[in-house]
Amino acid sequence: MKSVKWRVCPICGNAYTTYPAISRKDNKTEICPKCGQQEALDAFLVSKMENSDWISVKDKLPPPNQEVLIWHKGIGRYRVDVARYREEHKNWQLPHWVSESVTHWMPLPEPPKGE
Ligand SMILES: [Zn+2]
Repeated sequence: MKSVKWRVCPICGNAYTTYPAISRKDNKTEICPKCGQQEALDAFLVSKMENSDWISVKDKLPPPNQEVLIWHKGIGRYRVDVARYREEHKNWQLPHWVSESVTHWMPLPEPPKGE
């Protein structure tokens, strides 16, 4: 009888029996296929961002307290929001919460012309 090997994914904490994926972060940690897919998607999105108008927070931060579009990791996935960078707290103020996982930002577009 073939015994089933249970593995526990270090990222999501779920047990799984399928063949593991290898984390791109260190190329050795075994993670579950779902997290493997998520990492691949994240890597794809980040590579797209690098060739767009988005500005990496590693390169430049917006003027303090000015509303900008932000690209950040919400609960498990990336999303776009409007926020202000708070220099004194080194985080980003959204209408209802604060994000510390912003990777990119860009100035808000001009408002629509006319009424
Ligand atoms: Zn997982």
